[in-house]
Amino acid sequence: MPPMNEGIMVILSSPSGAGKTTLVKLLSERKGFVTSISHTTRIPRSNEVDGKDYYFVNIEKFQKMIDGKEFLEYAKVFKNFYGTTKFAIFEELNKGNNVIFDIDWQGTNQIISQKLKNKLLTFFILPPSREELFKRLSNRDMKDKLIAEERMKQFDKDVLHWEDYDYVIINNDLEVCYDQISNYIDCEINKKKSTYNIDQIKKHIKKLMY
Ligand code: 5GP
Repeated sequence: MPPMNEGIMVILSSPSGAGKTTLVKLLSERKGFVTSISHTTRIPRSNEVDGKDYYFVNIEKFQKMIDGKEFLEYAKVFKNFYGTTKFAIFEELNKGNNVIFDIDWQGTNQIISQKLKNKLLTFFILPPSREELFKRLSNRDMKDKLIAEERMKQFDKDVLHWEDYDYVIINNDLEVCYDQISNYIDCEINKKKSTYNIDQIKKHIKKLMY
């Protein structure tokens, strides 16, 4: 176990539609992880709450925060800026709390390259198939279908970043997926060998990319 005053950092990333948001929620509820709340310049969705899902800020404020070096990492994703501030994260980690991040591959690479003293585990979540991903991304009307097609194109680019991560997880079933992530985290913390099978993952990725 790491010393009590050093929390670990767990990053979950996934191409849009792979089911990561629910997994973050489960890890927070069942394993007591503190969820990192990002700042974003994106417009809030109807079900989102400022200060809970994100801190919604305008581009001027975000730029000021960049200039003030407030971010541990930040990136432009789908035309909007997203960033993780240093202050709240280090406060939690120094209290001994473990922190979970829902950020993209650009932010993940920025955090990896900083080589912080806290243990860092990175997970890349993938959908079971292209067909299932398209189904998850599209709703009934044509506008959603067009957005889904755009996101599928983005998926083809994002999936290439799987190699940057410690673990790749296939989200066929949410509970199975949660158990896998939870098990890998416990194995890492307790320095035990896990059953992670990289060959199976490589086969799945080949299938996803055609
Ligand atoms: P959404 O707009 O759907 O909430 O998020 C879009 C993407 O931005 C997701 O892939 C999410 O993981 C990523 N994201 C959210 N917050 C951050 C952040 O603070 N930094 C980075 N780099 N990506 C983020």
